[in-house]
Amino acid sequence: MTLHNLPDITKAVLFDMDGVLYDSMPGHARAWMEMCRREGLHAEYDEFFGYEGRTGASTIDILIRRQYGRAATPEEQKRLYAIKSEVFASFGPAPIMAGATEAVAAVVSAGAVPVLVTGSGQASLLEKLEKDFPGAFPASRRVTAHDVVHGKPSPEPFLKGLLKGGVAACEAIAIDNAPLGVESASTAGIYTIGVLTGPLPQGCLSAAGADEEIASMDACAARLADILGQ
Ligand code: CA
Repeated sequence: MTLHNLPDITKAVLFDMDGVLYDSMPGHARAWMEMCRREGLHAEYDEFFGYEGRTGASTIDILIRRQYGRAATPEEQKRLYAIKSEVFASFGPAPIMAGATEAVAAVVSAGAVPVLVTGSGQASLLEKLEKDFPGAFPASRRVTAHDVVHGKPSPEPFLKGLLKGGVAACEAIAIDNAPLGVESASTAGIYTIGVLTGPLPQGCLSAAGADEEIASMDACAARLADILGQ
C-alpha cells in the first residue's frame, strides 16, 4: 500500500457522498433488502455496507451471480436499480451527516474547491445537494454513476474528479468512508482521509490505503480546517 504526502497547497478536496455528506447508508441497505425481497433474491443487511462505493449495476451483478451463476443482464441492472432507488426515495431525505456542513465550509473558506465523487446515481440525493451545500457542488464538479464505466474500487472516479476539479493528484485530498472508496482514491494517487462513519471495524480504512483514518465527519472538519489553514 502506497502512502501519500499531504499537498503543499491543497487546491481541491474530493468528497464521497453516502456516509460522508449524508447519513444515508442504513437507508441504502434497507432499500437493497426490500428490492431483494420483492425479487426473491437472497441477501443479508450487513453485506451492503461492504459493497458501498460500487455502482448499483455492480452490486446487482454480485447478487445475480451468487444466486443464478451468471452475469446480470443490462435489463436486470436497470430494472432492479430502479426498484431499489424508488424504495430508497420513499424513505424521505437522508439527514446531512453531522460535521459535513463544517467540512465543506472549511474547504470553501480556505479557497479550495470541493468536488463530488460518488458511485451513486440516486437522484433523490443528487437533487438535494444544491439545497444542502449551496454552491459547493455545481454539476461541473460532480462525478456520479453516470460519469464512470468501472466505478470504485477502480481509480477511475477519483481520476475523473481530479479532472473536474482541474487539479493534479498531489494538489488534492480525498474523503471517503468505505474500503472500496478509499482504495479508489488511494490508487488514484490522492492523499486520502478515511472516515469511519458506519459499522466497519477500526483499522479497515487504513488497511484499504487511507493515509489517515478518523472517527467522524466532525473530526474530519476539524482536521481539514487544520490542514488547509497551514
Ligand atoms: Ca460512501
